[in-house]
Amino acid sequence: MNTYARFPLTLVRGKGARVWDDQGQAYLDFISGIAVNTLGHAHPKMTEALTEQAATMLHCSNLFHIPKQQQLAELLTRLSGLDAVFFCNSGAEANEGAIKLARKYFHDRGLPGRTIITATQSFHGRLLATLSATGQDKVKTGFDPLPTGFAHVPLNDMAALKQTVNDDTAAILLEPLQGEGGVNIAQIDYLQAVRQLCDERGLLLILDEVQTGIGRCGTMFAFEQADIVPDILTLAKGLGGGVAIGAMLATKRVATSFGQGTHGSTFGGNPLACTAALTVLDVIESEQLLANVQQRGEQLQRGLQALADRHPVIRDVRGQGLLIGAELSIDAAPLIAAARAHGLLILMAGPHVLRFLPPLNITADEVETALAIVDTILKNRTLENGTSRAGALGNGTGEGT
Ligand SMILES: *Cc1c(COP(=O)(O)O)cnc(C)c1O
Repeated sequence: MNTYARFPLTLVRGKGARVWDDQGQAYLDFISGIAVNTLGHAHPKMTEALTEQAATMLHCSNLFHIPKQQQLAELLTRLSGLDAVFFCNSGAEANEGAIKLARKYFHDRGLPGRTIITATQSFHGRLLATLSATGQDKVKTGFDPLPTGFAHVPLNDMAALKQTVNDDTAAILLEPLQGEGGVNIAQIDYLQAVRQLCDERGLLLILDEVQTGIGRCGTMFAFEQADIVPDILTLAKGLGGGVAIGAMLATKRVATSFGQGTHGSTFGGNPLACTAALTVLDVIESEQLLANVQQRGEQLQRGLQALADRHPVIRDVRGQGLLIGAELSIDAAPLIAAARAHGLLILMAGPHVLRFLPPLNITADEVETALAIVDTILKNRTLENGTSRAGALGNGTGEGT
């Protein structure tokens, strides 16, 4: 079905941070399949582990114990400080599970029908409940009736949140950094105040780290930077490094509400997907990728900041680790097309923000190459505007040029 506005490009192969199209043209991949290809493309350890697992067993269903799933659950709980995991196949599914678990937790305490508060500009997925949870109207239109039980407040506005919380509130669901919504950072003191509010009112804090988790922000989970722990945590995108897997983690107190028969998934946590996730976590540690994310992230942010000084169309540079946005005073789409023509794949986050999501093992040279391409396309844009071709790359507003 025609659900995607695809780039006019067919990618057929990749190695590290480089991908090739069907014409043999190479590109530097600063999209990583939307924060999915954590280790880049065709990492030898991933190839080896998946090949071996494929020759052993792909799937057997959760009717049986699965050693790789147990191993992955032990590792994820140890890394996160949470106690139990439910495995599924995507971010929306992980959030759907989190919503069900939060509702069941209150149901078990004789308090059914409670509401979950999320942030405006949030993105939590395309399934019906996660659409309702999402704080952007554009994705909801046409899908009535949507599940009820959600309220939305502006991010980083503690007063608005306190006003919205009432005796019917079950949980607060937040992204520590909104990826799809424009690379908007939840401030550390806000996250800490939300944690405190949840503790005071007996509410659950659910963090959606589907995009920010698994090292993307320079720590294994973004919440570590606020020195808090959520009651429920969701993961997906980067977890399998390109193999579909999602996970929903919870503290013991909350997780006990999911007893036998309350929730399930046919594919979730199968041996192949768990092997991929174990390999991602193993390589993040053995190749010290968290340190690389911090260093390359700083390099990329500093470089973009320097470009902003010379090209005022860049209004703001923000992000954490290797989830970085550059907000523009013009439309992002033409610049993304221009970058592609120069061999760099980057993404949008809303109409005016360029989003950079390289693999976690990106090198300093590759970051420099990407910055040089961004510089070139911004220079070309200025030149073209200066020679009465205003709007050739922009939307014709000429703002900031
Ligand atoms: C991508 C994303 C989702 C949805 O994940 P899917 O795997 O596409 O269902 C949910 N939450 C956040 C924060 C995301 O970035």
